[in-house]
Amino acid sequence: MKTQKQVIKDFEDCIAFQKSVGEDTRHVESDLKHNLWHYENNDYHTCTKCKRPETAKYDNNEVMVEKQLCFGCNLWEKRLEEDFTKGNVFVYNRTMYSIGSYGISKDDYLGHSGTVFKITYPDGKQVISNNVWCGGDLPFWLTDGFKTATMERDINVEDVKHLL
Ligand SMILES: [Zn+2]
Repeated sequence: MKTQKQVIKDFEDCIAFQKSVGEDTRHVESDLKHNLWHYENNDYHTCTKCKRPETAKYDNNEVMVEKQLCFGCNLWEKRLEEDFTKGNVFVYNRTMYSIGSYGISKDDYLGHSGTVFKITYPDGKQVISNNVWCGGDLPFWLTDGFKTATMERDINVEDVKHLL
């Protein structure tokens, strides 16, 4: 059980650490401001990667507790192990994207509203897609183990038909 004073100190340490590595700390500051009650007089661990307090009160939280990670860092660890090994996932400008099936009907639900992108993987492979989904910005600690691609938008499909 952590006292209110301890919770505030842990959050302040987390904010100072995340600022030192260039992270945007607004979400952590907001959590401290609005959810202090969630942490005080409760048990939690501090994430080994980002120092965020984590009560791990979710379903399937065993891995989170075992690895001493917060929800967000645990999610990215899982993505690194599972999603990043898939051919349709790539990273551009420190943001994760995934490519869905090429949309052929105007009724298809498409990423980026069907904007056509040309993605060039580090190995030179090129993919044209009108169904690219954003998976969020990578955390500061995730610096390797992923493919960094390039991404061009507003591609004229007629010019790249050979890649479809
Ligand atoms: Zn974390």
